[in-house]
Amino acid sequence: MTSQYTSLLASSTLDVAIVGGGPAGLMAAELLSNWGHAVHVFDAMPSVGRKFLLAGRGGLNLTHSEPADLFLGRYGAHRLQLTPVLQAWGAPELQAWAHGLGIDTFVGTSGRIFPKEMKAAPLLRAWLHRLRHPLTGQPVQFHMRHKLTGLSVGSPAQTGPISLSFDVQSLSSEHAQNLKLSAKSVILALGGASWARLGSDGAWVPWLQSLGVQVNPLQASNCGFHVAGRMGAGWTPFFESRFAGHPLKSVAITWTTQAGLTLTRQGEFVATAYGIEGSLIYTASADLREQIKSLGYAEFKLDLLPDRSLMQVSKEVSHPRGTRSLSSHLKSRLGLEGVKMALLNELLTPVQLHDPLKLAEAIKALPIRLTATRPIDEAISSAGGVAWDAMHAGHEIKALPGVFCAGEMLDWEAPTGGYLLTASMATGVHAAKALHDKMKGDEP
Ligand SMILES: Cc1cc2nc3c(=O)[nH]c(=O)nc-3n(C[C@H](O)[C@H](O)[C@H](O)COP(=O)(O)OP(=O)(O)OC[C@H]3O[C@@H](n4cnc5c(N)ncnc54)[C@H](O)[C@@H]3O)c2cc1C
Repeated sequence: MTSQYTSLLASSTLDVAIVGGGPAGLMAAELLSNWGHAVHVFDAMPSVGRKFLLAGRGGLNLTHSEPADLFLGRYGAHRLQLTPVLQAWGAPELQAWAHGLGIDTFVGTSGRIFPKEMKAAPLLRAWLHRLRHPLTGQPVQFHMRHKLTGLSVGSPAQTGPISLSFDVQSLSSEHAQNLKLSAKSVILALGGASWARLGSDGAWVPWLQSLGVQVNPLQASNCGFHVAGRMGAGWTPFFESRFAGHPLKSVAITWTTQAGLTLTRQGEFVATAYGIEGSLIYTASADLREQIKSLGYAEFKLDLLPDRSLMQVSKEVSHPRGTRSLSSHLKSRLGLEGVKMALLNELLTPVQLHDPLKLAEAIKALPIRLTATRPIDEAISSAGGVAWDAMHAGHEIKALPGVFCAGEMLDWEAPTGGYLLTASMATGVHAAKALHDKMKGDEP
């Protein structure tokens, strides 16, 4: 690198380098700069918070208002590790933080919490302004188009600065140039591996593993699934062409969790060309993905009329229908039509369709078989990441003293509902506190 600015950067040892300018990295940057550290945020993209902005496109769900025990339960297998993190900084703190930026929030009917404007852009704008012009502490310095490609630390005995290696993309040249920097402390907040075009591409996994850090494979979470269909080859061309994109509203699914529990949840999802996706499916996506991994397929039961009992449905189905077609009969007696009716036609045999008892049972518990998740790049979030055993309690990597981790790159997952942003930011807070305590402890 030749510019004066980069040679200055390269010749000094930075106080704190935060790599990754998503919600986790920005939250860590805010706290550390408030506490007087000189913070530098690096990001591979031309601007920070790109996935955060995308999250705001369909209504930014910041967090959830449900009781703490239920909230913590959403983190499933990683509840234990995230409990102290989220008890220290969770849904109430996140709301207070948003209010502090001048962003009003409201609780939706489902208990989810949103900014009043529903969007992420006003919040990100106010946040970046505060980071650049803080009332106390030091302004955060941003370095865009800096992609971290590796780092090295001294042996645990010599706690010297950490060397960071970046590929820097300049506006004037097609070729990235290498830049080596050193920092006293580093927070990695590199995200997972979905929506790679927004920056989180998971390219950090191999080099971090090569440094002796255990990283569990990144997998799709909150994702769509391919369906087997009646013949095992997905939806029929007829169903796909007529019903892809149609929502299944107010339905319920029942599935078995990895712990062997049977759960039922009500909500909605969408039929897609390849199968299904949507918030109700995301609720079960971790269990369904694991079932596919162990059995080669997963299955859940779909209740097309969750507000009616099997007995009520049976009674209506068995009502004499005279010369009416089955479709008009089910539409007039039960209000079943559109994609719901099409699903019955798609998945049941003619014998099942014309046997009132079997049909009623299918309306209340239609087996839906899944064969595969959609690719991770399309998912809302990733499961897997830096293993908890690879880190100390403050999320400092054991093999890399002085290097801390935060956000979705850690090994946890949760359904949609605001749990992803809350834990991403809370782990940013947690890593920042641990780094600050360590640096204070290191002072003479
Ligand atoms: C469509 C969609 C909708 C969503 N909606 C919601 C929602 O409503 N509510 C919710 O709670 N969650 C939602 N999420 C999830 C949420 O956005 C993520 O969980 C959250 O952004 C993760 O934060 P993070 O800081 O850990 O990672 P990210 O936001 O992914 O940020 C990581 C940053 O690191 C940078 N980076 C990666 N590798 C490198 C490298 N080698 N060098 C330098 N920089 C690098 C990236 O460019 C990126 O800026 C949604 C996600 C998607 C895709």
